[in-house]
This record gives sequence, structure tokens and C-alpha cells, in this order.
Amino acid sequence: MAHLTSQVCIVTGGSRGIGRAICLELAAHGATVVACARDGAKLADVAREARERELPGVIEPCVLDINDGAAIDTVVSEVAEKHGRIDVLVNNAGITRDGLMASMEDEAFDAVINANLRAAFQLSRAVTKHMMRARRGRIINIASVAGVMGNPGQCNYAASKAGLIGMTKSIAKELARRNITCNAVAPGFIETDMTDVLPDKVKEGVLPLIPMRRFGRSEEIATVVSFLAGEGASYINGQVLVVDGGLYM
Ligand code: NDP
Repeated sequence: MAHLTSQVCIVTGGSRGIGRAICLELAAHGATVVACARDGAKLADVAREARERELPGVIEPCVLDINDGAAIDTVVSEVAEKHGRIDVLVNNAGITRDGLMASMEDEAFDAVINANLRAAFQLSRAVTKHMMRARRGRIINIASVAGVMGNPGQCNYAASKAGLIGMTKSIAKELARRNITCNAVAPGFIETDMTDVLPDKVKEGVLPLIPMRRFGRSEEIATVVSFLAGEGASYINGQVLVVDGGLYM
């Protein structure tokens, strides 16, 4: 059960949805999890849940806006200093600013690229120096089937996730010799705040396309991330694990 004991993991977007489930799953396997997001109260709530469930690991709340590159470097340095190691980075935080391409403002495009792609680059760069020194590490990027298939109304989001997949493969090739792997998980439709806001018409239109005929749960992504973080995934590198009930195949 506790295959991540003594591992130090940084998870972005740990306050809600998939990130919250990832933090709890990693803590359930004994990890010390630095859960980052902007909403400190929600992060404290996740940490409380870990304590109440008496999970073997610990969740440490960390208020961080991933649009602040300097803050990213500070957080990573502080984690490395406090714990002496960073074993796993999960780039999970992400946003949508949906709209049709023909009428999308530059600002909506840039905001999504910066949060979903640039921040993942900056975080990966920041942890890499610590992982290289240790000659071990795992970087796990939460992409999306939108980055593989495209999705109308999401040209910015799909571009950010396709970019994340390309970055994953490049990092995987750059760092493999240092025993650092980099993989992506591409969820399909998962029940979270992000999909809650979709109009019923859109949700009803998607369901028949999913062979399993249901949206996924955050925990069904978290278990995959936990697997990729553990020893059992030691020879998996540069892959995109699609977790979508069969939507894309
Ligand atoms: P939610 O909207 O439920 O949660 C998003 C998380 O990202 C929150 O914890 C939020 O924290 C954090 N976040 C957003 N902006 C920032 C920021 N500027 N700085 C720090 N943290 C930020 O999303 P999901 O849980 O659904 O999605 C998680 C990931 O999974 C995303 O990358 C998403 O693209 C991806 N994904 C989701 C799918 C789905 O169907 N739900 C499908 C495919 C991929 P806070 O607001 O507290 O800062």
C-alpha cells in the first residue's frame, strides 16, 4: 500500500478536483505531498482530510499562483530545502477559457497557454536541478484527450495540452539518462468543477461517444498518477496514458 513512503511530491492544483484526489492518493501511499493552489482554505481542507483519514502520508498546503514564475522558483527551493529532496512533480493545475477560435481574444489564448503549459515548463525546470542531483525523479503532466483529438471551442486549451504532450516527450528524452522519467496522463471527461460548467447539451452530446457511457471520477485519474509515481512504472517514459473510458482509441 505505502509504495511512496519517504517520497516528496509537489502537486499543482491540489485544492480541488483531480489534483485534490491525486494529493490524497499519493498520501494514501505514504508520500509527503506539497499541495499547491491559490485557495489556501481549500488546501487546508485537503490536508485535514488526510489527517482525519489517518493516511500514512502528509499533505502540506502551499499557496501558489502558477502564473507567478518567481513564486514557482521560491516554492521549489523551499521544498527542496525543507525536505532535502523532490521525487515527484505533478503538473495538474489547469484552466479553460472556451470559445470559438474565430472570436477568441488573445488574452483568453495567452491565459490558457500560460497556466497550462508555461507554468508546467517553469515547474519542471525548477525541480529538475534537484532531481538531477539525486539522479532520480518523476515528472507527470496532466494533459487531456483534447490535446490528442482537438475539441471545438477549445483551440487554446487543446493547443496547451498538445504542447504539454510534446514537452513531456522532449523532457523524457532529455532526462532519461539521469533516471528521471516524464509521462503524461490524458483524462477524458472527468466530473469536476471544470466539467460542471459545461451546458447539459454538451454533456449529453459527449456521453454516447464514451464507450463506458459515463464521465470518470477524479480518483480514477489519481490511481494512474500514483502508479506512474511508483517503482512499478520505473521503465515507462515519454508516454501518454489516456484515461477516458474509451473515448479516444
Ligand atoms: P478544476 O477546475 O476542478 O481544478 C483546477 C485546479 O487548478 C484547482 O485546484 C485550481 O486551484 C488550480 N489552479 C487553476 N489556476 C491556478 C493558478 N493560477 N495557480 C494555481 N493553481 C491554479 O480542474 P480539474 O480538476 O478538472 O482539472 C485538473 C487538470 O486536469 C487540469 O489540468 C485539466 O486541464 C485536466 N483535465 C481535466 C479534465 C476534466 O474533465 N475535468 C479532462 C482532461 C484534463 P485554485 O483555484 O485554488 O488556485
